[in-house]
Amino acid sequence: MSNSADVLVLGGGIAGLTVALEAARRDLSVIILDTPRPGAASRAAAGMLAPSVEELPVTMRAAAVAARDHYPPYLDALRERTGIEVPLDRRGILQLASESDAQLWQRGAPAGAEWLDSAALAAREPAFEGHHGALLHALDGAVDNLVLMDALERAIADTTAIKRVSAEVLSIDADQPSALTPTRGRFFATRLVLGSGAWAGGLPGLPRRIPVRPVRGQLLRLAQSPIHHVTYGAGGYLVPRGETLLVGATSEESGFENETSLAGLAVLRSIASRAIPALANALVVDHWAGLRPMSLDAHPILGADPESPALVYACGYSRNGILFAPWAAAQLANVLTGDPSPEIAPFRVDRPELRTASV
Ligand SMILES: Cc1cc2nc3c(=O)[nH]c(=O)nc-3n(C[C@H](O)[C@H](O)[C@H](O)COP(=O)(O)OP(=O)(O)OC[C@H]3O[C@@H](n4cnc5c(N)ncnc54)[C@H](O)[C@@H]3O)c2cc1C
Repeated sequence: MSNSADVLVLGGGIAGLTVALEAARRDLSVIILDTPRPGAASRAAAGMLAPSVEELPVTMRAAAVAARDHYPPYLDALRERTGIEVPLDRRGILQLASESDAQLWQRGAPAGAEWLDSAALAAREPAFEGHHGALLHALDGAVDNLVLMDALERAIADTTAIKRVSAEVLSIDADQPSALTPTRGRFFATRLVLGSGAWAGGLPGLPRRIPVRPVRGQLLRLAQSPIHHVTYGAGGYLVPRGETLLVGATSEESGFENETSLAGLAVLRSIASRAIPALANALVVDHWAGLRPMSLDAHPILGADPESPALVYACGYSRNGILFAPWAAAQLANVLTGDPSPEIAPFRVDRPELRTASV
């Protein structure tokens, strides 16, 4: 196999796979270099598509909504290509109100949200009877990220312009675009895409400091789901998945530690039972942890490096990589074919918010 292509994609999570597919769609040849690492985020995530609930700066909010609305046609195209139907929930996200929230929101819900008082909430979701009410953020929801990753892997395997190589990347050279692996030697390309998740900031050879660090998130899955809507509240979130319910998530600065802990699971159980007391003794069928690739301002880092333009960033996706990645990949493929793609300008690597001293 040749060790060169138009584009070398570093990382095989959602960031890398979505960019590889978009690049191939624009007739570029692609090599993906990846080795699976414990704690990789894309299969650990809860899959929420929640631009309305996440606190995003005004400059990024429109992109987040565009990313959410990119999903239906994206999944249609993926199904046509792979035959895999990826479950997508667009019925809206509930945000449970505290007593003070309820007083505020009944006088006027935030733009785009609908206020449901206690009775209206219980009519939609009887399991939330007794809560003060909730905001309903229409069109937000969730995708089944495990099935999505399976579909992306299938599409990659079926695309002859993409080669996937299982190899550790030891270092890169951004100016003579290439990546060094221990077993397969050096790979060369015209462009490099940095999509290495929580490990992106530590890759030797980067032309600047990339402020991305791992932030552990623990999740558990309960055997039953008494609700239908993705719900924020009680200090966490609940995501119905099939007949089961995901409960998340912790947010922990514990380096690359990627196991669940008794303390973390206790936090998650408490989120579930505060939201729905009947879940206090529900059966836990699974639990896991993943590493969010958290950037300094908790927002993605996207686009070409201004001083080493052969290097393109698709990293720092933080809490919203499942939401952003398919949309961002289309913009990044424009960059790979020489179009600056103004839509991703707010996410550039040299924005002031990424310039603080220590990560
Ligand atoms: C618990 C949890 C819940 C989440 N919930 C949501 C959610 O509801 N909605 C949402 O939008 N986002 C969510 N996220 C965030 C989302 O999962 C991430 O932002 C996204 O998956 C990041 O994708 P990635 O491809 O950048 O990283 P990853 O999926 O971590 O992939 C990186 C890949 O690069 C490989 N790699 C790294 N370094 C090297 C190297 N040197 N050589 C070879 N291979 C390498 C790794 O092995 C891995 O395969 C959640 C994350 C967590 C942990």
